[in-house]
Amino acid sequence: MNPAVSYIIDFLLGDQKSVRHNCRIGYTSDRSMFHRYNLVIVASSFFNERVYGTPLSMPALPLAEVEGVPLLFGEAKTVWHGDTLAVYADIVASAYFLLTRYEEIRRRDVRDEHGRFPGKESLPYRAGFIHRPIVDEYGKLLRGWLRETGVSLTEPAPRIRKIWLTHDVDAPFYCRSLRGALRETLRGKGIGNALRLLRQPLEKDPYYTFPWLTSEDDKVMGRLGKKRSNALYFLKTGGKSSYDRPRYSLRRPGGASLLKLLRSRQAVVGLHSSYDAGQNPLLIEREREHLERISGQKIRHNRHHYLAAREPEDLVLLERAGITDDFTMGYPHVAGFRLGTSRPVRWINPANKHVSSLTLHPLTVMDVTLSETKYMNLSYDEAFGYCLRLIDRVEQAGGELVMLWHNDTVSQLQMRQGAATWHRRLYAALTDELLKR
Ligand SMILES: [Zn+2]
Repeated sequence: MNPAVSYIIDFLLGDQKSVRHNCRIGYTSDRSMFHRYNLVIVASSFFNERVYGTPLSMPALPLAEVEGVPLLFGEAKTVWHGDTLAVYADIVASAYFLLTRYEEIRRRDVRDEHGRFPGKESLPYRAGFIHRPIVDEYGKLLRGWLRETGVSLTEPAPRIRKIWLTHDVDAPFYCRSLRGALRETLRGKGIGNALRLLRQPLEKDPYYTFPWLTSEDDKVMGRLGKKRSNALYFLKTGGKSSYDRPRYSLRRPGGASLLKLLRSRQAVVGLHSSYDAGQNPLLIEREREHLERISGQKIRHNRHHYLAAREPEDLVLLERAGITDDFTMGYPHVAGFRLGTSRPVRWINPANKHVSSLTLHPLTVMDVTLSETKYMNLSYDEAFGYCLRLIDRVEQAGGELVMLWHNDTVSQLQMRQGAATWHRRLYAALTDELLKR
């Protein structure tokens, strides 16, 4: 069996993958082989050499459904062949399509102004299931079909396996430099005001919201423990593009104070790869090493600035740069399950079907995705409701909840005209909700 297919079957089985020792699961369309297995997932033509990588490999809308779950390939029927249950719903190819971002290598010409595949162009969005981790739902179906063949296995009770409270630090300070003071003066705030901003203690800087964020995170970690929850701060160390502004130094007093605070709260520090590094992933290694030197910590976690991991194959260079865990995999344009799963999954390269050692932690929700006019444009109540529904899905699937809130969106200062002012309130409401579960 192809290692990617084998990995996906294990991934679908989840905690129950040990049942593979007691039962035989096949993936073939060759009927003469069916008798060898307890259960066969009948392979559609997706992986055929003449189909894979061609327009023929793309699922057509509207999708069929199998037991209420959208199905990308195969048919929604099961047939007994003697003692073998044949499942014609090709949940392996369907899961592979979603987990590998296969459609992004088929549709290279579809990218937004930052070179990202637009969430609203994605199959999960167009087919109306971006809010459902359907790969996890396939796992539940597979376990059910195995039970029909007489294999004894239990369905895990709903629970959030792990909560990652993550924060991308794009702009740690509002005004801690002469450049910032000059900007304020030019904005007509007056030189006296600008100098007052510059001289005020760090804790008074409107963007330095880390004492508040870390105390919110601590509430969750205090309740759930570090095994089930982690605070994770992604810091930038590079990038010359205008999208990488403001550049900040972690060696200067403000940056050093931030690192000290994060260390004292036992938060994990990760690399926020720059916009430049998104365009040229060869830069990631240097940025990672730089952060390692400054922070004195091993840096193994990454998230791209602007969530701008562009082409699926770029992840080869992320892995080569020494990153073991990536948290980029969500769409900025719409919150939900970009990879079709809420569970951490090894990255599979759709160009060569190689199963890598890099783990992808799907991003569940980012603050500005909910509020920005060009993204979801939700009100506070709508955003709160949508987040609760995503949390329920993660819980049902036994997955990980990865939340991304920026330090500047929870600032009390109105960032700019039209920006939502409720992200602080929403973050507090969601952490309260998590404490109740
Ligand atoms: Zn960023």
